[in-house]
Amino acid sequence: MGKDLISRLNKGPVLCAEGYLFAMERRGYLQAGAFVPEVVLEHPEVVSQLHREFIRAGSDVVQVECQKMFEEQIGWAKEAGVDFIIAETITWVEELKIALKAIKDAGLIAVCNYAFRRDGKTREGILPGEACKILEDNGADVVGLNCFRGPKMTMKLLPEIRKSVSCHVAALPVPYRTTEKDPGFLNQTDEGCDCIPGGNAFPVALDNLYCNRFEMAEFAKECADKKINFIGICCGAEPHHVREMAVALGRKPISYKYYPDMSKHYAHGTDKTLKKHNTDAAKTL
Ligand SMILES: [Zn+2]
Repeated sequence: MGKDLISRLNKGPVLCAEGYLFAMERRGYLQAGAFVPEVVLEHPEVVSQLHREFIRAGSDVVQVECQKMFEEQIGWAKEAGVDFIIAETITWVEELKIALKAIKDAGLIAVCNYAFRRDGKTREGILPGEACKILEDNGADVVGLNCFRGPKMTMKLLPEIRKSVSCHVAALPVPYRTTEKDPGFLNQTDEGCDCIPGGNAFPVALDNLYCNRFEMAEFAKECADKKINFIGICCGAEPHHVREMAVALGRKPISYKYYPDMSKHYAHGTDKTLKKHNTDAAKTL
């Protein structure tokens, strides 16, 4: 990937895998709730490994974790030679404007993403199109949304954003099947399970609501068709989602070497070497 995000976006989609906190929680290195990323200090090798897995699966972007003040973070990031900065999962226009200003003051490319709640508005009550236009007018290079909503509920808000701005647009949903009734993953009921403490599947019992790789690939394709070029996946992401999204965008990432091929499966395959008594038995499995 070239150093300049904008020239890269001008050529076509950029794929961005996120969701490090959820992935670390599932692996047992981080506590759900406060989601403090202590794993960066306690087990940096595990964080590095997940970065490697996302790259192998086709992510063009790898992210740094941290929770200090914007200027401090951006100062460190600039010192480390980052290509651009993402300010995201922010629900207020005014807060995102502060982050954006800090990024532009440092002379860096800014990707600014809102997380939209149930009402599909910012905390000030501003709709997505207008909220993103404000960021573009304040110098953002890429605007859009990440987190909270699954692919379908994220897609619902994207056409209005695409219409309202002329800069590049970003979309990084969580890989969960959120619905019109509950568009965000922070409040989810699993109808198939009655033993979730408190009844809310967020954040550690969302398994039954998980999107498979093909659902995320469909999302990536639809984004590309709609000229939404900064495409990604937020909390809940795993490398198999990222690989399928990369393949949907016409790429062959490193881990494509192990892309599924069912032609040699003993029962479902079509390869000439397979035994007929096994392939016949497929009907009775
Ligand atoms: Zn997220």
